Amino acid sequence: MVKELQLRVSIREEKKEGILEIKAASFLGIDKKEINAVKILRKSIDARKKLIMFNYKVAVYIKELPPESSDYKFDYKDVSSAKEVHIVGFGPAGMYAALRCIELGYKPIVLERGKDVQNRRRDLKAINQDHFVNEDSNYCFGEGGAGTYSDGKLYTRSLKRGDVRRIFENLVYHGATDQILIDAHPHIGTNKLPKVVTNIRETILKYGGEVHFETKVIDFVISDNKIKAVHLNNGSEEAVNAVILATGHSARDIYELLHNKKITLKAKSFAMGVRVEHPQQIIDSIQYHCQDERNELLPAAAYSLVHQVKDRGVYSFCMCPGGFIVPAATANGEVVVNGMSPSKRNNEFANSGIVVEIDIEKDIPKYNDFGVLKGLEFQKDLEKLAFNAGGRSQVAPAQRLTDFVDGKLSNDLNSTSYQPGLKSAPLHSLLPKIIGGRLRKGFAAFGEKMNGFFTEQANVIGVESRTSSPVNIPRKENLAHPDVEGLYPCGEGGGYAGGIISAAMDGERCAEAAIENL
Ligand SMILES: Cc1cc2nc3c(=O)[nH]c(=O)nc-3n(C[C@H](O)[C@H](O)[C@H](O)COP(=O)(O)OP(=O)(O)OC[C@H]3O[C@@H](n4cnc5c(N)ncnc54)[C@H](O)[C@@H]3O)c2cc1C
Repeated sequence: MVKELQLRVSIREEKKEGILEIKAASFLGIDKKEINAVKILRKSIDARKKLIMFNYKVAVYIKELPPESSDYKFDYKDVSSAKEVHIVGFGPAGMYAALRCIELGYKPIVLERGKDVQNRRRDLKAINQDHFVNEDSNYCFGEGGAGTYSDGKLYTRSLKRGDVRRIFENLVYHGATDQILIDAHPHIGTNKLPKVVTNIRETILKYGGEVHFETKVIDFVISDNKIKAVHLNNGSEEAVNAVILATGHSARDIYELLHNKKITLKAKSFAMGVRVEHPQQIIDSIQYHCQDERNELLPAAAYSLVHQVKDRGVYSFCMCPGGFIVPAATANGEVVVNGMSPSKRNNEFANSGIVVEIDIEKDIPKYNDFGVLKGLEFQKDLEKLAFNAGGRSQVAPAQRLTDFVDGKLSNDLNSTSYQPGLKSAPLHSLLPKIIGGRLRKGFAAFGEKMNGFFTEQANVIGVESRTSSPVNIPRKENLAHPDVEGLYPCGEGGGYAGGIISAAMDGERCAEAAIENL
């Protein structure tokens, strides 16, 4: 017999060996010896009160053994001589589109402008140390896409859009810890992600798919409203049956190319702001009600904040406990910040994007001349502004949080995890009012919601501008572009995902659609 239960375990009890069996037996009124196994289905932390509790959802196996393997099987076929599907971009959307093609018996040919994870590292070092951005290989471009050097947070709100569990199980199949199957807020960590990504590439190659790095798509050949071929940066033309366009939201050249070819695009609302960085200990002490270090059983604390200011949401985005702020620009002449964390989340800083919703119809009338690309142009200008304010390198403009809200230039700054360094700048007056004004009010409100958050020990760092795509590449019900048969806009770049998991699910969906319509 199998019984599913919810159990609560205090932080003191957590260390006790066999505590779940003891609690389950007591709850069910049976002898502990009758229990063969207790399998954890879900684990979360309840830190609302001073006495912190762990909430467990468990399956208790009574006089019965748990199954040895997962219900999920990945049936990869030899596709070396199968019909081809081209996939542009090898981020989460492209990777999962390729894997799904193989399961369905089709051969994925992946074209990726960046380098494999190993070689990509050198370019990341160059951004951090020499302030040089390789425009095809950086924190956004390269094997694994923008998700490789990230926090690897895996939660998604897109539960209705596909089988989230299937993606999690597949990540475990490719080497991620099975802890992600039970944690309420699972994450993999930037030190572990490259191996998972490499394993995915190896599966694709093993079953006969192809992955081509440093291979950028620079043009599409379209005739009779159908995609026929793609032009590559090496000068070759590649004939195609179908193209899954999974180029992410930083591939501005792709939006520009589609726009120049008069392929329909739409402007889309998005969000922009700054990253805020606190000592992790401050966030721990607020969230876990402790004076000094957090209990060793507790992970670095996270937060999620939202406040409405003048009809727009101001909210925390991609919070990275125990993490680092990284330079995520994709071109020289711009500064973009983002966050990542190692699997242990054991760095001394907590950072998070704090962003403001931009209503594309109302908020940036000055950019209307750019038509559907107006959000993109606004984003570019903000990134250039950050570049100039930081001193025309990857040094980022920053201000103490309290000075930002009070409208004062900071005399000095707190230490930071951001490797290229910070320069004091009056972000409160540099940022457009629709963003800066709302952020200042939002931060003050966050200080009231989380006592201790509003502190001079935190820095505000600019700019967090790549939260989601400012452009939507439309698609029909069969997921193909309305103007171009055989072209499948996919993932975050199309405007159909907002993170690793939703991009992966969209990749699978686009592969299924492309194959069905072949
Ligand atoms: C630093 C950082 C941290 C993040 N942390 C998290 C997190 O913790 N959790 C989370 O869910 N999300 C996180 N994100 C966001 C997440 O990475 C993205 O939502 C996700 O990667 C989008 O997947 P995608 O496949 O749609 O696009 P991308 O991952 O952007 O991949 C697109 C790929 O296409 C390639 N490409 C672009 N143009 C071309 C071309 N012309 N020809 C060939 N290839 C091309 C690019 O090189 C890139 O590899 C983070 C992002 C960054 C930058």
